[in-house]
Amino acid sequence: MTVFACAGCGATLSVPMSRVPLPVHVDQRYGHGLLGVLMEPRTYAVNPDPFGPPWRPWAEVGAAEAEACGVYAPVGALSGGSRGAAVLAPGDVRGTVFIPARSGGLCCGLDGRDGPNLACAQCGRPVATRIDDCSLWQAVWFDPAAVRRVAGAAVRPQTVDWEALRRDRPGVPPVEPPGQWHPLWEAAVGAALARLLAVSAGTRVAVPDGLVADTFGRALDALLPPGPPVKTLALAGPGLPTVSTSIALVPQHPQTGEHWAPPVTADAVPLPWDVWAQLAFRHDRRSVPGAGTMPADARRDDPSPLTPFGLFRPDVAVFLSTLARLREVRQPWLRAIYDRVTGHPYAGPF
Ligand SMILES: [Zn+2]
Ligand SMILES: [Zn+2]
Repeated sequence: MTVFACAGCGATLSVPMSRVPLPVHVDQRYGHGLLGVLMEPRTYAVNPDPFGPPWRPWAEVGAAEAEACGVYAPVGALSGGSRGAAVLAPGDVRGTVFIPARSGGLCCGLDGRDGPNLACAQCGRPVATRIDDCSLWQAVWFDPAAVRRVAGAAVRPQTVDWEALRRDRPGVPPVEPPGQWHPLWEAAVGAALARLLAVSAGTRVAVPDGLVADTFGRALDALLPPGPPVKTLALAGPGLPTVSTSIALVPQHPQTGEHWAPPVTADAVPLPWDVWAQLAFRHDRRSVPGAGTMPADARRDDPSPLTPFGLFRPDVAVFLSTLARLREVRQPWLRAIYDRVTGHPYAGPF
């Protein structure tokens, strides 16, 4: 387990934490209300990309410098902050105080626009940025230059194997009350859709019926040129029979970040376990009236699955951000899709 400490005075700044992969919805902006907490308790992730201000507009960065940073298509602005910032839940932070002069935000809370807004309570050094404004997942980001990671005494939680995951972690349902698609799903499908396009080689992809078609099918049909399907998409992972497919949607392990190895002939497109598990094992069969009478108690405990208000829309910003960071976007056919969606981000299927 890791504990974060102030690089200036050594004060403890977190509870013992274990590292997990960076969530796919880390940069998501969603709706107009307060969102939940980005990270699960006692876990942290590290952002390989620069984080936070100063923001540099594309015209200033230019294509050559952006490419050296792993960005292969024009984006609005790039962060000029430090790489390697660690993100964790606000409730796991210890020994910090707010910096009142840096409490900028758009609306209901802090959005980190002023740089680090939390200081070490012991020595006053700015150490972290708390983000909790509306439309943003709540999180605290440690400045990598201002904190140290030290080995904590607590025992690291055991890594759960794929079989145990399948048994014990059913994932996040795609629709939440009263009927909107879950933002994690919109982000996860947005990111996976970019990778799917890249391995499609610009040809139509046949998609299995059901939730995969509901979430990926419409978007693939809208973005890829018409014609008969050339490639096939299927789920591959623990508990599923091995199928022959050209593209496999595989789960990413929520603790290690490892991807399930697909059949050797298939290109793998990863999804967070919590989404993949629902695609693979969710049963959304509805109950229908049958013979006899169901006891009132049983009826109360068995609500029908939620029906979404509308069609599924992948998160367009996550889609574009992911696509801009894939080398394949330099191919003219894929760059044309990127430019088209950038120009009309809220046209179908988004
Ligand atoms: Zn300190
Ligand atoms: Zn607000």
